[in-house]
Amino acid sequence: MEELYINVSFDDFCPRSGFGLPGDPSVKLLLGLREEFPEIKYTFFTVPKAEFEIEPRWKVVVKRRLHWLGLINKLTSFKISSEDWLITKHQEWLKFVKDNVEKKIFEIGQHGYNHYAPFFTPSAEFSGLTETETEKTVRDGKNVLAVLSVVNSFRSPAWGLNNHLEKVLCNQGFKYLSLDAKLSTLKFDGKVFFIPQQYSIDSNVLKEDLVGKNYLFIKGHLPPQLENGVTEENVNNLCKVLRELNKKFFVRFIFLDDIKSLYEAGKLRGVEIL
Ligand SMILES: [Zn+2]
Repeated sequence: MEELYINVSFDDFCPRSGFGLPGDPSVKLLLGLREEFPEIKYTFFTVPKAEFEIEPRWKVVVKRRLHWLGLINKLTSFKISSEDWLITKHQEWLKFVKDNVEKKIFEIGQHGYNHYAPFFTPSAEFSGLTETETEKTVRDGKNVLAVLSVVNSFRSPAWGLNNHLEKVLCNQGFKYLSLDAKLSTLKFDGKVFFIPQQYSIDSNVLKEDLVGKNYLFIKGHLPPQLENGVTEENVNNLCKVLRELNKKFFVRFIFLDDIKSLYEAGKLRGVEIL
């Protein structure tokens, strides 16, 4: 049987209720999966200061229309939470995360800084930022996350991009970039690995045929209310897929930060070289 390297990642990890507190049902479900799959580990794309406000859909639509009409001012900007959601203000949560990082159950990746954009899709933080703003936003977030661990990977909030983001991330030493929701092949440009998404936990079938590849990148969102969120149903989907794969392969769960050494040891098949 061939080895299959699997990375399981979730977005929007932060110390807000439903987004990754130790007592949240989503966190319990994920940790509970270790009974059946003792080696399973998770990459959590973490928001250093989660200030996003979940607004009613109609408000978002109205504000975006006003923005497209050129009415950019405080009235049409999205409301920002006044509460302080900097992760460093949540010591108990930090301890919980650090424990799991030390046990190699959690890996921390960066998911922007505050996951907030005043005028664009409300959560696409990097849309429309200048190079200087992009540099500062990435650096501020990285500095905050340094309390948890060394962070080598980045996923852009709501897949929002700008022309500077990739270069800025490379300059700031990131090794694993998840910037494209449609990517299905792991790519390497000699310095940076571009992380694909091959399976989303809201499906109970693995559509990817894995021909020519011995890796699988699985994705979901921690908050159960979001698309592919950690609900009982979606976790059952994930279990079903993992059970099937366990029959055909030696499944090896990996962190993103394991990719470089696996690649250098010649263990990964189907990596596209750029
Ligand atoms: Zn997100």
